[in-house]
Amino acid sequence: MVLYKACPRCQGDLNLNKDMYGEYKECLQCGFSQDIQPKPRKAFDWAKTRGKPGRRRKAA
Ligand SMILES: [Zn+2]
Repeated sequence: MVLYKACPRCQGDLNLNKDMYGEYKECLQCGFSQDIQPKPRKAFDWAKTRGKPGRRRKAA
């Protein structure tokens, strides 16, 4: 899904994407990205996200 001319930075087109953290908008022209937060993320339970990829520490 694309939001045309919705970029606050360059008035470009924002593409709606989704990753493991939720949905976000990304500008096709300038790379601007913005999270879409339908619900407050403060309720997010970090205790359940142990081992999420990319942020993992090796035990040592
Ligand atoms: Zn842009």
